Amino acid sequence: MSIPMVNLTRQYQKYKTEFEQATMEVWSSGGYILGQAVTEFEQKAAEYCGVKHAIGVASGTDALHLSLRAAGIGADDEVITTVYTFIGTAEAVSYVGAKPVFVDIDPQTFNIDIEQLEQAITTKTKAVILVHLFGQPIDTDRVKAICDKHNLLLVEDCAHAFGADYQGKKVGSLGDLGCFSFYPGKNLGCFGDGGLITTSNDEYAESLRALRNHGIRKPGIHSELGYNSRLDSVQAAILLIKLAEIDQWNQRRRDNAALYSSTLDKERYTVPHEDGIGTHVYHQYGVRCQDRDKVIKALEAKGIAYGVHYWYALHQQPVYQNMYKGRSFPVAEKLCQEILCLPMCPELTADEAGQVCETLNNY
Ligand SMILES: *Cc1c(COP(=O)(O)O)cnc(C)c1O
Repeated sequence: MSIPMVNLTRQYQKYKTEFEQATMEVWSSGGYILGQAVTEFEQKAAEYCGVKHAIGVASGTDALHLSLRAAGIGADDEVITTVYTFIGTAEAVSYVGAKPVFVDIDPQTFNIDIEQLEQAITTKTKAVILVHLFGQPIDTDRVKAICDKHNLLLVEDCAHAFGADYQGKKVGSLGDLGCFSFYPGKNLGCFGDGGLITTSNDEYAESLRALRNHGIRKPGIHSELGYNSRLDSVQAAILLIKLAEIDQWNQRRRDNAALYSSTLDKERYTVPHEDGIGTHVYHQYGVRCQDRDKVIKALEAKGIAYGVHYWYALHQQPVYQNMYKGRSFPVAEKLCQEILCLPMCPELTADEAGQVCETLNNY
């Protein structure tokens, strides 16, 4: 028996009828891009996140890229973000010609170190991109106060954290702009690529709607250099079905995480630390371990999938190496040596979680 990281086929089987009916409806409607389902999903997602506007785009990376464009971030600007994240967070900064300024992380939550974040601010800093890593909301109010003091834009990269609560609010509503990815393996995923931007700023929303669609503000008029970054109707129809389930699914993730954390051998593994500031929605369940190579061999022998998020911090990646020659981010570098992510999804059964723990505890 094998255990995948995310059991998407099990989820598909459970909701097959709804998914297929919704897909067929879009196909027969003839409106395949930015159709009725997209408008409806944008409204429901905005309501869910507690913002005025939600704008569907083609991916999470595009959500970040277009957000920075809409806010006027560009050449010679600096954007502060964590060194321990998916490359898409930094790519968006580079796409607009700005410099990603990396900051090390907190060793317990793996989120950006807020003190070091403040120290990294220069006269060129224009924005901060926070990542709610692995689904645990960072203390955003604390960062917001710093941003307000220095007049910086605050963007949330919520790719890991759809539906996570922070002090009675949803992530994506805490900063100026919230960016989501609907890559299939995310907590809320579609059947291809997709993304979303949340904001309560009318100007940003109007600009984003133009940027995602070739810069069109009025029919036939291209008032700025835009992009083709639209959400498909089929994806939106799937997302509408999944949005109704997301709270229940996130709770299932939390239940599975609790099971892992109570069963794993704490002598061998450092289980995730919940700081209690927000609600962790466990996009990833990542433990620290000293003998990772051996643990991985034991998992592979049993057909149990695993993930290493991430093998390298961003300053170590060839694409950013030159920019960061001689710099070190020791907390992130150490975590890259130790991190191991275990199978995690709402469909993971208690029996499967038990098998994973048994393998880890007894290898
Ligand atoms: C997945 C992810 C993205 C990018 O999303 P895509 O939809 O793949 O472009 C951005 N940031 C983080 C932290 C992610 O995990």
